[in-house]
Amino acid sequence: HQDEDKLQEYMDELEFLAFTAGATVDRRFTQKLTQPDSKTFIGSGKAQEIKEYVKENEIGTVIFDDELSPSQLKNLEKEIEVKILDRTNLILDIFAQRAQTSYARTQVELAQYQYLLPRLTRMWTHLERQKGGIGMRGPGETEIETDRRIIRDRISLLKDKLKTIDKQMATQRNNRGKVVRAALVGYTNVGKSTLMNALSKSDVFAENKLFATLDTTVRKVVIGNLPFLLTDTVGFIRKLPTQLVESFKSTLDEVREADLLIHVVDISHESFEDHIDSVNQILMEINAHQKPMIMVFNKIDDFSYEKKDEDDLTPSTNKNISLEEWTKTWMAKSKYPTVFISALTKENFPEMKKMIYDEVMKIHISRFPYND
Ligand code: GDP
Repeated sequence: HQDEDKLQEYMDELEFLAFTAGATVDRRFTQKLTQPDSKTFIGSGKAQEIKEYVKENEIGTVIFDDELSPSQLKNLEKEIEVKILDRTNLILDIFAQRAQTSYARTQVELAQYQYLLPRLTRMWTHLERQKGGIGMRGPGETEIETDRRIIRDRISLLKDKLKTIDKQMATQRNNRGKVVRAALVGYTNVGKSTLMNALSKSDVFAENKLFATLDTTVRKVVIGNLPFLLTDTVGFIRKLPTQLVESFKSTLDEVREADLLIHVVDISHESFEDHIDSVNQILMEINAHQKPMIMVFNKIDDFSYEKKDEDDLTPSTNKNISLEEWTKTWMAKSKYPTVFISALTKENFPEMKKMIYDEVMKIHISRFPYND
């Protein structure tokens, strides 16, 4: 039952990603396998079922929730005879659509080429099929070698370009001097931009889609005469493509070099605990997990739970826990200051601001110890 819930949540998220990319989802298919099929990821019966459905309903694309290997992608396209996207491809597509600055565009382009390179044979097979196949092997192979070389050149060019910008950004960060730097981190769509706007009275783009924020924004915030810098970073997500983790290095540098992390969580989301884990996982990967952190549980205006009757013997789930009860769970043992807010209605803002002020002040004092 729990597994089934989890599966539907993953599919909800994938559907939301597809929606963000501009697609509408017609139907979901799921399959339980102890291990994905090495050749086609799903079983052949399932592939056949999808193929028939796709044909009957004139579906344009089939999207998989995992990253498919180059050969799985190729085999599936052959079997289902429709365009296949995997999770990585979908996420890259969204990033590409939303990249605003030339830096973000360069990062996405690099990630896309890195994804494409091992999958080039697939394009070549298509080419071969279009041209009639047999006899085209020679020119086809030359073409793909040329394509590979062009892409490799492009990749090293993009890497150079990013290196230059990275240096500029590092200098910029250094020039910010000794001002305390806080970074908003959190799963995508939890309300980081909204909170940024509320704290800095600025106008950062916020919308109910995944990854509205691609580029980092840095704003000066003042709480009780104490100024500090606040950075809004790209939203983290489960199974963030490794190509992206690598190429968004500089974006993540903002997190790595921050003095204080403000971890925003959408408590109204059923899987908020999973989201926290995903974020912590990425923080660990970039070696930023030991920084001072404040946990901000957002969207309490949207939080609801089903109180269970005392004689109800069905097992409790996350849906039966009140905010107060949550504070008595693992949250009670958390070593981080914790606050429950709504970035929308600004409920509990004074409490949150006090908490941020205290943490920033601690760091400030450690930097400018004064004798009295
Ligand atoms: P980000 O991806 O983490 O930067 O999230 P955004 O700031 O873009 O917000 C994502 C969505 O959540 C937007 O539709 C916001 O209006 C909404 N949102 C943000 N904070 C709150 C809140 O406290 N309560 C409710 N109900 N919605 C919120």
